Amino acid sequence: MLASPRSIVQKIRSHAISSNRDNSKFDVLVIGGGHNGLVCAAYLARAGLTVKVLERRAVVGGAAVTEEFYPGFRNSVASYTVSLLNPKVIADLDLHRHGLKIVERPAMNFLPLPDGGYLLAAEGRTTSEIAKFSAADAERYDDYCAQLTVVADTLRDLVLKAPPNVVQGSGWRGLRELVRAAALGNDLRRLDAEAQRLLLDLFTKSAGDFLSDWFEAEPLKALLGFDSIVGNYASPFDPGTAYVLLHHSFGEVNGKRGAWGHAIGGMGAITQAMAKAATAHGVEIETDADVAEVMIEQDKVVGVTLRDGRIVRGKAVAANVNLKLLYTKLMPDEALPPAFLQRMRNFKCASGSFRMNLALSELPSFTALPGKAAQPHHAPASSSARASPIWIALIAMP
Ligand SMILES: Cc1cc2nc3c(=O)[nH]c(=O)nc-3n(C[C@H](O)[C@H](O)[C@H](O)COP(=O)(O)OP(=O)(O)OC[C@H]3O[C@@H](n4cnc5c(N)ncnc54)[C@H](O)[C@@H]3O)c2cc1C
Repeated sequence: MLASPRSIVQKIRSHAISSNRDNSKFDVLVIGGGHNGLVCAAYLARAGLTVKVLERRAVVGGAAVTEEFYPGFRNSVASYTVSLLNPKVIADLDLHRHGLKIVERPAMNFLPLPDGGYLLAAEGRTTSEIAKFSAADAERYDDYCAQLTVVADTLRDLVLKAPPNVVQGSGWRGLRELVRAAALGNDLRRLDAEAQRLLLDLFTKSAGDFLSDWFEAEPLKALLGFDSIVGNYASPFDPGTAYVLLHHSFGEVNGKRGAWGHAIGGMGAITQAMAKAATAHGVEIETDADVAEVMIEQDKVVGVTLRDGRIVRGKAVAANVNLKLLYTKLMPDEALPPAFLQRMRNFKCASGSFRMNLALSELPSFTALPGKAAQPHHAPASSSARASPIWIALIAMP
């Protein structure tokens, strides 16, 4: 169940005051030091709580890490490009002061084609590139981006609001959640009829159908459609995949809405800055600390057991791990209502993404766009072979 950050802090504080006999050292333990765990820990510590992060691996960062994957070659080994890191988090945690620098990508996506042609989406160049395949599509492209931006702007405002909880009964809590749900609905009502229709299309249609409503050129649909299956175990023709296109317009880089960028030093630079910010607020971070189980005594979470047998006590536990993992592997079955546990067991969270890090002696020369000197198409989010969900990382020599 979700609660607003303020109510979480108040709850933990009042629990701490009411349980003087509790010898827990920490107010909150965070399982996992991915970027979400680090941000959660930093905010809680900033609010005055004592917090410890327990990270299974030798390095914090989760999927946002920079590692030497082959002797002499460092790279963002999993996630690689940033846009969805909210500017409020950057400002609140003063991440720039802790070393974070993000630059805009020189190109978005590069699609080499079997016939030797290509489509490259890059600042100031995308429309003329699209015109190589369809003049009509080139004309519609700006309109497409503008409409997506209107909807993305509204949803961007929502991401900093706590969503309503599903609560039992009709008392004060139920009423409060109802008011919160109505407020969110109101935000969406501010969209005009055309934008509301677009939002409905995005939530219900497949990316394939949605893009075909707008465009005719297959290379353009492939290039844009790639975004709909990133991190989404689905075909671009599955209903609902259109929404993921919107997800790619949500973010921003250095104040530029919808842009994607690279962190200097790789994605690990983001999580290292977060770890520094968290530590500066007093968070204790322990790596090589694999949590085996969430401990429960008298129906209350009281800490965690590590795989090496140690026990770490905390008044509350926040989990930065996949919720299926949390509820089906790290919590005792008997601690959960059977119907909820069954829902968690059936919860689908597979991924069709495959990531490859290649150590190359030089930059690749593509048949479609030859040349080994660095060019914009060497640094996009992905070089997608006919929109296949295979992400190829292009690694320059260190
Ligand atoms: C291949 C790939 C590429 C991606 N590319 C991008 C991209 O370019 N841009 C983008 O915005 N998003 C991208 N994503 C998605 C993004 O990386 C994730 O959404 C994000 O990293 C999730 O962060 P998190 O902190 O919630 O979880 P994670 O990063 O998964 O962190 C969870 C942490 O918990 C730790 N942990 C797990 N179990 C335990 C345990 N029992 N005890 C202690 N610690 C534990 C893990 O080691 C890990 O450090 C990509 C994802 C993948 C897989």
